[in-house]
Amino acid sequence: MHIYYVNGHFCHKDSSFVSVEDRGFNFSDGVYEVISFHNSKIVNLDKHFKRLQRSLNGLKISNPFNNFKSLELIFKRLIKINKIFDGFIYLQITRGTSARNHQFPSSISPNIVIFCFLKKDIKKLLNGVTVGLSDDLRWKRCDIKSISLLPNLLEKQKAVEQGFYEIWQTTDNYITEGSTSNAFIVTRDNIIKTHPSNNFILGGVTRDCVIEIVKKNNLNLEENAFTIDELKICKEAFLSSTTAGIIPVTKVNDFKIANGKKGNLTIKISKLYHQYIDEQLNE
Ligand code: PMP
Repeated sequence: MHIYYVNGHFCHKDSSFVSVEDRGFNFSDGVYEVISFHNSKIVNLDKHFKRLQRSLNGLKISNPFNNFKSLELIFKRLIKINKIFDGFIYLQITRGTSARNHQFPSSISPNIVIFCFLKKDIKKLLNGVTVGLSDDLRWKRCDIKSISLLPNLLEKQKAVEQGFYEIWQTTDNYITEGSTSNAFIVTRDNIIKTHPSNNFILGGVTRDCVIEIVKKNNLNLEENAFTIDELKICKEAFLSSTTAGIIPVTKVNDFKIANGKKGNLTIKISKLYHQYIDEQLNE
């Protein structure tokens, strides 16, 4: 876990350096991905690579990787050297190093940092988590997975301080998404609802998997934002992310969802999600 990939070199994290003039350091001028691996096999790599490309396009940074295969080779080597077989990969690409100046410098190469980290024990979350609500303070390009995460950090810290697992952010009474996850409800009519994938949310890879699974299994899904009032009377709620998977939400502020228990449809989708991942791993 101590070996990092930095700009073409595999080296110990204590001797891995990026310049203080890295534009990621000075301006948060960069993007990132967090990708899961099981038994050394990378999960959903094509989806992560596509989102990475979209994020880079959004910031007009050229992609240093021609295709996901070249990235996969680096990930695999990193996993092998670090001898961890289940975990996550963090990949960060910034515009590069140049004297501090807002305008984009011409012809610099991106700075690339990749490392692995271990999975946390999420067993406790599987019975349901609590969520608080808060105004969405972010910019209008939340679809870019930018390393500029200050509003998300402030919201997550608020969640921790208020005793919640997560904050669901709201704009004009509509839920956009969590500080680190996407948000779903199941209505009284068994319709699964989640905010559409547009510039007001980060289109999660796990969210995309949920949508694929739901459609394949003929469940009802609407990519339409839901309001705080709809949330209050919903049948079930859950959140999704690469690091946590699918987690039931059993309380929002002080109102209980599904009598404070995880809902049946959430359990079903979670099972189908695990099958979906297993199928990929067994390919
Ligand atoms: N929204 C936000 C704001 C996030 O930070 C994350 C996790 N990075 C997600 C959604 C979920 O995305 P994914 O399923 O790709 O992890």
